[in-house]
Amino acid sequence: MNNEELWKAVLGQIELSISKANFVTWFKNTSILENQNGLITIGVPNGFAKEWLENKYNIYILKALKSLDPNIQEIRCIIAPEKSVSTIDSIKNVDAIKPPENGGFVRKKLIEKPSFTSSTATSTPIPHETNLNSRYTFENFIVAENNELARAACYAVSQNLGLAYNPLFIYGGVGLGKTHLLQSIGNEVVKNAPEKRIKYINSERFTTELVDSIKNQKIDKFKEYYQQMDLLIIDDVQFLSGREKTQNEFFHIFNSLYQLDKQIVISSDRPPKAIPTLEDRLRSRFEGGMITDISRPNLETRIAILESKVSEKGFSLDPASLKYIAENISQNIRELEGALNRVIAFCEFHKIPANLENTQKILDQLIENNKKSIQIDDIFNVITTFYDVTKEDLIKKGRKKEISHPRQVMMYILRNELQTPFSTIGELLGGRDHTTALHAFEKIEKNKDTHSRLKEELATLRERLYYN
Ligand code: ADP
Ligand code: MG
Repeated sequence: MNNEELWKAVLGQIELSISKANFVTWFKNTSILENQNGLITIGVPNGFAKEWLENKYNIYILKALKSLDPNIQEIRCIIAPEKSVSTIDSIKNVDAIKPPENGGFVRKKLIEKPSFTSSTATSTPIPHETNLNSRYTFENFIVAENNELARAACYAVSQNLGLAYNPLFIYGGVGLGKTHLLQSIGNEVVKNAPEKRIKYINSERFTTELVDSIKNQKIDKFKEYYQQMDLLIIDDVQFLSGREKTQNEFFHIFNSLYQLDKQIVISSDRPPKAIPTLEDRLRSRFEGGMITDISRPNLETRIAILESKVSEKGFSLDPASLKYIAENISQNIRELEGALNRVIAFCEFHKIPANLENTQKILDQLIENNKKSIQIDDIFNVITTFYDVTKEDLIKKGRKKEISHPRQVMMYILRNELQTPFSTIGELLGGRDHTTALHAFEKIEKNKDTHSRLKEELATLRERLYYN
């Protein structure tokens, strides 16, 4: 087996044990440069990848290598950018970039580090038109395994605009911290390089501006404005789905920025592949850079986030109450923060102690209220928007997968959230038989914990139903 074959076999094994996003991010453009006396030298495209491969994936790599060749004892990584620029990708050579503090949580730093460069006063005013909100920073972002990769990538980008990863694409469910991270990049750049032109905008607003500019015959100005950015951040890009004209203009803006090595950062609630009616040329642009995901935080992380938010607000809540909130609100962080705010506000307003008993009462009521308020039409709305289908599609006959899957999910949600009888579900969805609804429910129920995509979908839909 030559080096190339050996590495291919190793990658084949690693691909099975880590997430797709991680795999693509860290193992793209790597190769074995040398195999000598049990020491394997791996060429990686940049310092960032070196850190991660050596520190985090070392064990996986070594294990895979040893299973193929027991003589192999050790690995080391060296930066070999010239090896790596051969493919589509845009990963360029960056000097070693500081990776996030390893593993565990990074607690909120209560005291800002003093800054020693003349241009960076501790609070650089943020120019209004950037749309940045100074509330979102890397400092108050809790790092845990569900988001460390995304956080590290965002941080790297903020330190090397246009040079680290371009474009950077972050995806994950609602309320998991995408906007927070995207905004942190902008705020970090304002702090370190206030002369840079930065724009944060979500794709819906971008579309509105574009439409207005066309109406007012100012499209050239619009384009010119965006094309002179050093950092363009487009949040929630999934909303460009189906908007051909916007996608077309965005494509041109994207290209001209990209060619000038200007940084583009994008977020979405799903990976590029899963955005319906996204033009292929945009999709492949998005896929050409770095894609990382944020997943749901585990209990420990949720507690850490709550602790940090409580102290940010200058409130105190006992550990049992924090744990109760974190255990009961697991889907997303916005929801978690909302629940915490509710507890704080209620206790302060009624002048009652913030203890477990009161927390339980307040939260139970919150959960109950949320449950009651959703209607069948809300479910239709959420399903049609998320899957980009129409209500008629869901109702009419036909078994195309693009439609039958949303329909089955709709059936599942009707049953699960509203306890709608199967016969009614069948009627609502085009006069189908109750057994059809029952089968759909059972199918989704059976797969919902094992199929990660489905699991994410359900969590996002549920989130949108109750909290948007
Ligand atoms: P998204 O854009 O993914 O829907 P947001 O970035 O708006 O989510 O996050 C929702 C809320 O949760 C925000 O108030 C954000 O500050 C907070 N949040 C999310 N992740 C974290 C984290 N890791 N540490 C601290 N706060 C977080
Ligand atoms: Mg957001």
